[in-house]
Amino acid sequence: MRLILLGPPGAGKGTQCKRVIDRYAMAHLSSGDILRSQRAAGTELGKKAQSYMDSGRLVPDDIIIDMMIETMKKAASGYVLDGFPRTVVQSEQLDKSLAQNGEKIDGMVNLQVNDEIISARLTGRRSCPKYGAVYHIENLKPEVDGICDKDGEKLIQRPDDNAEVVASRLLTYHEQTAAVVGYYQDKGNTVINIDAVQDVDDVTALIFAELDKLDGQVK
Ligand code: ADP
Ligand code: AMP
Repeated sequence: MRLILLGPPGAGKGTQCKRVIDRYAMAHLSSGDILRSQRAAGTELGKKAQSYMDSGRLVPDDIIIDMMIETMKKAASGYVLDGFPRTVVQSEQLDKSLAQNGEKIDGMVNLQVNDEIISARLTGRRSCPKYGAVYHIENLKPEVDGICDKDGEKLIQRPDDNAEVVASRLLTYHEQTAAVVGYYQDKGNTVINIDAVQDVDDVTALIFAELDKLDGQVK
């Protein structure tokens, strides 16, 4: 399956993607994770992205589209896109690139969360800089405070998870990204809306129930 996991920042995309890839043996392609690793490696791409990410704005479409299409080419047939596409232009270019190989997006999971909940989730988020696992200081604590369960790395607070940048990222989501849902709905793609203001495991169960059905249709 080729899936898009969409939703505002802090909706739980990364958290749910890790579970989806385990169940369906897919690759997790997160545009945000790729950009952060480019920054950590000090590449030209990472340097270009820096100021946009730190202020909560979107990195320009041309940079992101090239980066993600390259990444998708290296992935096997099944993947979940996390954080991409984030504009209608990115969606159009993604579909065009897939169509050139006779491929298409099989479905989109759209996690729905209101802005008040998001602020609390993002300011309390702690992330593993290596594995990408995410925790929360109240909702999803690691076994040992401040340490990743998976690889023992010290957890960090992302610099863009402060209240000011979170407000900017939410605005960006409403102005530029929310329209991606309508774009795929209008094209007749499967769009699965999930109420993501509930326990992490309950959200996962709803996603699995829908993806089990979709998986049966795709094969
Ligand atoms: P995104 O990838 O959409 O930005 P994350 O998966 O990183 O979101 O989740 C953001 C924060 O919210 C993390 O700290 C995570 O532990 C927490 N979180 C994710 N899903 C839920 C949920 N259903 N209920 C409460 N907290 C959640
Ligand atoms: P995320 O990890 O998904 O929260 O993304 C972190 C930041 O990376 C965003 O605030 C943007 O600045 C940038 N970014 C990630 N994905 C995209 C994308 N598809 N288009 C533009 N910018 C992106």
